[in-house]
Amino acid sequence: MTVTDPIPFDNSYARLPERFFARVNPAVREKPVLIRVNEVLAHELGLAPDWLSSDAGLDVLSGRSVADGSEPIAMAYAGHQFGNFVPQLGDGRAILLGEMVDCQGQRRDLQLKGAGETPFSRNGDGQAALGSVLREYVVSEAMAALGVPTTRALAAVATGDPVYREKALPGAVLTRVASSHIRVGTFQFFAAREDTEAVRHLADHVIARHYPSAEGAQNPYLALLEEVIAAQAKLISRWMLVGFIHGVMNTDNMSIAGETIDYGPCAFLDTYDPETVFSSIDQFGRYAYGNQPSIALWNLARLAETLLPLLSENEEAAIAIAENALEDFEPLFQAAYLSGMTRKLGIAKPQDEDAQLASAILAAMAENAVDFTLFFRRLADAIEPGPGEEALRSLFADPSACDLLLQRWRKRLTQEPENAGDRRKRMRAVNPVYIPRNHRVEAMIEAAVEDGDFAPFEELLTVLAKPFEDRLEFNHYENPPQEHERVTATFCGT
Ligand code: AMP
Ligand code: MG
Repeated sequence: MTVTDPIPFDNSYARLPERFFARVNPAVREKPVLIRVNEVLAHELGLAPDWLSSDAGLDVLSGRSVADGSEPIAMAYAGHQFGNFVPQLGDGRAILLGEMVDCQGQRRDLQLKGAGETPFSRNGDGQAALGSVLREYVVSEAMAALGVPTTRALAAVATGDPVYREKALPGAVLTRVASSHIRVGTFQFFAAREDTEAVRHLADHVIARHYPSAEGAQNPYLALLEEVIAAQAKLISRWMLVGFIHGVMNTDNMSIAGETIDYGPCAFLDTYDPETVFSSIDQFGRYAYGNQPSIALWNLARLAETLLPLLSENEEAAIAIAENALEDFEPLFQAAYLSGMTRKLGIAKPQDEDAQLASAILAAMAENAVDFTLFFRRLADAIEPGPGEEALRSLFADPSACDLLLQRWRKRLTQEPENAGDRRKRMRAVNPVYIPRNHRVEAMIEAAVEDGDFAPFEELLTVLAKPFEDRLEFNHYENPPQEHERVTATFCGT
């Protein structure tokens, strides 16, 4: 079935050589039910929410019909999973419907996740469970509202078909929007086959699409590598500043465009502890919160390896060029992180010594099991002595540890005289009050999966759409989990 086209597809990836993907149509569902269309995002894309919510829209969003102009493909990619190279992964349950240019002139991918089997499914069933679709919807939209580059969720649809995991679960399809779905693993796929022509072709595509300024550089492929390194340094700093743990930073889950992608066992920190791991499949803590910058660099080194033949004809020279570029990651990350951290602390003009102040604060937070988000939020109420101080102190196992920090922090603030009200406002604009706390996400999933109740999903989205704005009626959403609510592992549950 074909519908008259309300999505202005223009598919550049499907014009690349055939070995870049497999052409495959989404599975046809008998009785799909629309869960939600993201109207705000639809407007941003220039798509009509009314059409997306219509029967014809539902047919496209569930995979029942292929819209005019759509050229469904599953993309080929490889990847290092927990450090081990797998030469062929690819979209095993995601199908790219195509691309379109949004209202800002930006090209965006529209992809169905959970769209059925593809030639890359290996032993998988090509399906997504409802819980994982809702988690990705909520957390990716929360990240967007927090200002962190990310893929987006345009719609969620219940397939009406069961998905068999540890038990039978309702199935669902997520419509994911990304500036592209090209990953470090996409480059690895071709490099592993020593298909340098394909690597070059892919690099040219990425330069034209994501990093056009690299085109004019003396060595465009080096410029591309440098741009990806810079984008990732910035992205990971943003994760660290909001307490986000990706959970599965495999190279196939690292976007070339520098967006957060693939929300599996992801989670936000409650109490600050750099060793925090939520993923039940990450037994050795490879992807712990505090490891994320070094893992990103490791992944970027894997990307650099794929580009070696393009960097220089001489292999030794190519390696030297790549190593030199990779050396930029650490300082770029540190600069972005420190600048963000000082902003969180209400400091306008960062100094080198602020890194020590930040470290001391984080160390005390770790020692005193302090809630990461609430600490920064409440700090804005403790610029001067007063009742706000007590709310901050109460977050510390030993409140006297807080007094020492406050003293040191306030002393630093005296170097930048500013009205406390103004400073508070600036701090509140960068320190969220609402994050997608794990126990809330789990409770939301349970209500939807067990009871078919989507009210918690809707409310969570409403709360997280304005993460920096205190709203009395949603006050309880700022609270960390109580002991019995604490979630210690999220499943790749998928
Ligand atoms: P992920 O851990 O979600 O990033 O997925 C890693 C790889 O496994 C990708 O190639 C996915 O397409 C594939 N995959 C994950 N779940 C499934 C599934 N249920 N069916 C087929 N392939 C899957
Ligand atoms: Mg993935």
